[in-house]
Amino acid sequence: MICYLGLGGNLGDKIKNLRAAIESIKKISGVKLLKISSFYETEAWGVKNQPDYLNAAVKIFSELEPPKLLDALQKIEIELGRVRLEHWGARTVDIDILLIDDLKINSERLKVPHPYLFERDFVLIPLAEIFPDLKFNLHGDRVKKVFGSPKDFKLKFVACVDKNFGLGNKGELLFKIPADLKNFRRLTLGNTIIFGRKTLQTFPDAKPLQGRRNIIFSRSEKKIPDAEIVSNVEELFEKLSVSEKNFVVGGGEIFSELLPYATEIFLTEVDAKKVFDTFFPKFENEFDLVEVKNFFGEPNFQFKKFRAK
Ligand code: ATP
Ligand code: MG
Ligand code: MG
Repeated sequence: MICYLGLGGNLGDKIKNLRAAIESIKKISGVKLLKISSFYETEAWGVKNQPDYLNAAVKIFSELEPPKLLDALQKIEIELGRVRLEHWGARTVDIDILLIDDLKINSERLKVPHPYLFERDFVLIPLAEIFPDLKFNLHGDRVKKVFGSPKDFKLKFVACVDKNFGLGNKGELLFKIPADLKNFRRLTLGNTIIFGRKTLQTFPDAKPLQGRRNIIFSRSEKKIPDAEIVSNVEELFEKLSVSEKNFVVGGGEIFSELLPYATEIFLTEVDAKKVFDTFFPKFENEFDLVEVKNFFGEPNFQFKKFRAK
């Protein structure tokens, strides 16, 4: 099932709380996070005299039945410190199910579409960003796009794959094509590159790449010369800057973790079939192909550029 969720909170560090909620949604077993909206600062709705809210919407694929999905979302609300005192009162994070396919649910515990969806600009505006065909009318409430969504970092993925989207095998890349390596350098030089511990091992002398800001995912390592280390996605977002170009360069696990936040993919597709144990995640449904360049050689390959829908 494709579901759209609405998130909002107005207590504590609002940006951190929304990012944490999105990461927790991503980790629900049976759920795949597909897309996220920008963050919006909005005026409190229903009960006034409380701090402004920060709102967002996300699109997910869920294998869970709707009541189980609601259970998982309510568990996240509690983990993030939500306390229900007053109806529509201030909260760290509220996660509501807005839509589930074309389903209508009207049980005691769960109503879908969300009963107030079309009354609330703070829900409609973020939702429209990730659901462009949605038809609705606005009410003139104060809703302003602000910095904070992981989407603002405009993560760009760069990878070289075989015909089956294989990336690497036994800790090695599948291909070392000079034109591709040159393209990688041209894209990333002077910018930020983000990658995992195992990808570091594929670099010359297993060292961070010069002329770039290197950010490495590692759970065990504390220090690597000429690099910054993060142990999870939220820490990464704390470090990134919107004024830098941020490239994610591997491996398979890091690509999958960060895919819902990617805005562009630069993919070299090699016309060959290799044995592989790591692969590039499935992304086609949420991205458009915007550029293709063919290269003939031994083997042939294509540079493809994709942009998030
Ligand atoms: P509102 O639902 O008007 O946005 P709220 O989100 O502040 O208000 P909560 O305290 O989060 O309200 O939830 C109250 C109850 O609403 C929940 O216990 C849940 O069972 C029920 N509920 C009904 N439909 C939904 C839905 N679509 N998404 C989330 N909760 C729902
Ligand atoms: Mg709500
Ligand atoms: Mg709620």
